[in-house]
Amino acid sequence: MVMVSTHKKRCVIIGAGVAGIAAAMEAAQQGIEVIVLEAHRYIGGRARSFLDEVTGDTLDNGQHVAMGCYSSLRSMLRQLGTESLLQPDEPIPIVFRSSAESDVFNPYRLPGIAGVLGGIMGMKSFSWRERLRLLYGGIRIGIRRGTRGHTVSSVLQAYKQPRKVVQRFWEPLALATLNAPPPTADASLLTAVVRKAFFGGGTSHHLLVPRAGLSQLWEPFPEWLKQHGGELRLGVRVEELVWLDDRVIGVATSDGEEIRASAVITAVPPKAFVRLLPPTYRERFASVESFETMPIVSVYLWYDTPMHLPPVVGLWGTQSQWVFNRDRIVERLQESRARYPGHVEVTISGARALAQQPAEAIATLVAEELRSIFPEVAEATLLRWRVIKERSATVLLTPKSVYYRLGPQSGIAGLLIAGDWTATGLPATLEGAAQSGRSAARLVAHL
Ligand SMILES: Cc1cc2nc3c(=O)[nH]c(=O)nc-3n(C[C@H](O)[C@H](O)[C@H](O)COP(=O)(O)OP(=O)(O)OC[C@H]3O[C@@H](n4cnc5c(N)ncnc54)[C@H](O)[C@@H]3O)c2cc1C
Repeated sequence: MVMVSTHKKRCVIIGAGVAGIAAAMEAAQQGIEVIVLEAHRYIGGRARSFLDEVTGDTLDNGQHVAMGCYSSLRSMLRQLGTESLLQPDEPIPIVFRSSAESDVFNPYRLPGIAGVLGGIMGMKSFSWRERLRLLYGGIRIGIRRGTRGHTVSSVLQAYKQPRKVVQRFWEPLALATLNAPPPTADASLLTAVVRKAFFGGGTSHHLLVPRAGLSQLWEPFPEWLKQHGGELRLGVRVEELVWLDDRVIGVATSDGEEIRASAVITAVPPKAFVRLLPPTYRERFASVESFETMPIVSVYLWYDTPMHLPPVVGLWGTQSQWVFNRDRIVERLQESRARYPGHVEVTISGARALAQQPAEAIATLVAEELRSIFPEVAEATLLRWRVIKERSATVLLTPKSVYYRLGPQSGIAGLLIAGDWTATGLPATLEGAAQSGRSAARLVAHL
């Protein structure tokens, strides 16, 4: 058994996803001794990358994007020295395409909200009336209080958003940021997105797309933690919490070790959180266990010719939602580029039905949709595909389930809760995870 230091507070953090990493960094900076325990042999959790052995390309478990307003995530990366990996060489306007039409949302001509307004007014596939309705809807959603208890669809209806504007702007935005379709997604989270990203000022609305595999963003963390007196243990699962009466005083690991601490922060998904609790507490947290999750399906495709597509394209009228031209976004090995010149990724969020399909059927569907939209894809030969189904990509946050969000306080002495699913007021995202970790760690000092 590890003994408690009498001089320094010790905090055990369960999970080394973004929330766990953020919590560890915040706690370590407050002079707290930190031990991070991660069940897997890698860090990053649901935001990680790996090598595709066939092509030599680094793939993410699903393409991630961030926004300028992701301040907690960016501050964490700044300290790790990897923030620049999020910065594209040039701002990335969002191009929209269908088989018959195209448009572009370019909010970079002016700073802050003026840029967003300019971007909306520049969307030529909408009539002037539609653009003005979209502006009106955006402002109302952004300033609205009390969107809680409503779905995104009902709020869009209340603000009389035209059908075309819903289908071509709000639906892609809701799917991308909330991982849920407007009829189920909680509207208060869309308000949070619009307020932070569109009304945030400066570069809040800038789209940030990692230029390297996601794992590279967190790579310096183990060394950083060591230098700040902390410790990361990989391949160590926490089996249960250790209690003294009603207080959590440590954790018991899969190694059979008991680690005592002044505070424990759980930074694990909701079901894993409930599993850590003794049966007597599970009933109290039954609502947390009932969180549903929503899949995201990612399809990587490699072609025999380079693709001159824009870096990010939103698709209209197809099951495929977003196309990322990986050849223009991420740094690739010369050899991979020579053998597999065209490399794109397609993201489909809110993909509950699609995730049930076999991988080959999904790849065929996506490849066919790309062919129907981009002439250069139609002329190219598909060399390889790879489908990644993240069945529990994020929790599904509906007007009902947002009330189940907890934390950072658990109501149990010695126990704090972090994770993208906790009560951050933000969607379940990298930023929500980072913010939750920092908030939980800040409370450790006061325990
Ligand atoms: C395909 C996909 C695409 C996404 N796209 C975006 C995007 O574009 N932008 C965005 O902002 N967000 C996106 N997200 C969401 C984002 O990845 C998550 O919100 C974030 O990574 C969650 O971090 P977390 O630390 O809360 O949880 P996790 O990443 O789930 O971390 C939890 C960690 O705890 C560990 N663990 C669990 N139980 C135990 C235990 N008993 N003992 C020890 N360790 C344990 C797990 O192994 C894991 O490493 C996407 C997610 C997916 C899957």
